[in-house]
Amino acid sequence: MIKIDNLPQFGLYVHFPWCIKKCPYCDFNSHNVSHDGIPEQEYIQALTKDLEGSIDLIYGRKVSSIFLGGGTPSLFSGNGIGKIISEIRKLTNLSPYAEITIEANPGAVDMARFETYATNGVNRVSIGIQSFNEDHLNSLGRVHSKNDSFEAIKLAKRFFKKVNLDIIYGLPNQTIQQLEYDIDLAIATEVTHLSFYNLTIEPNTKFYISTPSNLPDNDMCYEMQELIINKLINNGYQRYEVSAFAKNNDYCLHNLNYWNYGDYLGIGAGSHSKLSFRDKIIRQVRNKHPNNYLKSVLLNKHIIEDKEIDFKDIPFEFMMNLFRLINGFDVKLFRERTGINISSILEKLDKCVDEKFIEFKGTKIIPTKKGIDFLNELLLIFL
Ligand code: SF4
Repeated sequence: MIKIDNLPQFGLYVHFPWCIKKCPYCDFNSHNVSHDGIPEQEYIQALTKDLEGSIDLIYGRKVSSIFLGGGTPSLFSGNGIGKIISEIRKLTNLSPYAEITIEANPGAVDMARFETYATNGVNRVSIGIQSFNEDHLNSLGRVHSKNDSFEAIKLAKRFFKKVNLDIIYGLPNQTIQQLEYDIDLAIATEVTHLSFYNLTIEPNTKFYISTPSNLPDNDMCYEMQELIINKLINNGYQRYEVSAFAKNNDYCLHNLNYWNYGDYLGIGAGSHSKLSFRDKIIRQVRNKHPNNYLKSVLLNKHIIEDKEIDFKDIPFEFMMNLFRLINGFDVKLFRERTGINISSILEKLDKCVDEKFIEFKGTKIIPTKKGIDFLNELLLIFL
């Protein structure tokens, strides 16, 4: 039996499941826009109904952040996004200081749209740049060019205080020099948040069926990762999570809440939720395909999984998130978030220390460089 005395911070995730063209490496819940376009109004109504149906679960909780993710949310009109935010404001206790992020893709943004997003409360934008190299953009099946990226960054900086760029490394045929070019250009944009992800080949993607033969090997990817970390740190960015770097403390508050094992409600096709109560933590998953989601919301059958997290799985889930944080966490956070006494995992923590995956500093548990580099091996100890 768990006992949670104070509920954690709470964020709202809204999923937008359409993209102009599915990228061959992508395993997100994204679907090509059909010839008829996006059913924007119908989807907004479905999101509203979805949120209304979930209010009992989150009643009274302050919404500290909203993340409009996808897919490509920036395919939605400025007024459409405005309507969604205003429905959230009406139905929930949205903090006036909430961080509200929208994901955008170069090639699916324009000035009027960004301006209306900002007017409606969006204050952070995350742009899927992936690379500044045209050949690599082509090999990733991206629909935008390097110039589209620069244009999108220029507009984003004009309308939003916080801007993130997503960049992928370990690309087909990519050399260290080409990666260095991407890092240098990213730094030169002077945005305050950068995320660098290693390309991984996921099941259910085109790259899984037909994997590019010229991917950098593990040693080279490690060298690339070290280059990214060194260059960004030398240029004033702090690595605060495995893949996330921030300047001027401009952390992504929504993602930090995930990594701190905070709570979130996900609405929209395929979205996931994690919600804490005094004596349990639950997870929900919504119907994944946009058409099925739209139909099932009307019948109130859109939640396809709704279960209490098993007591024995909670410590693993906690560590899976917290060990992503470079500066670690305070020991007391384990009890606060999981409702479980830390004495139940002391043996496992000792094993992590023996393996040099973590170290104790005062009241903090901090992953070592080895722990961060071998995160999967570290987490196996908690399985
Ligand atoms: S744009 Fe992003 S979400 Fe859409 S298919 Fe490509 S990687 Fe996936």
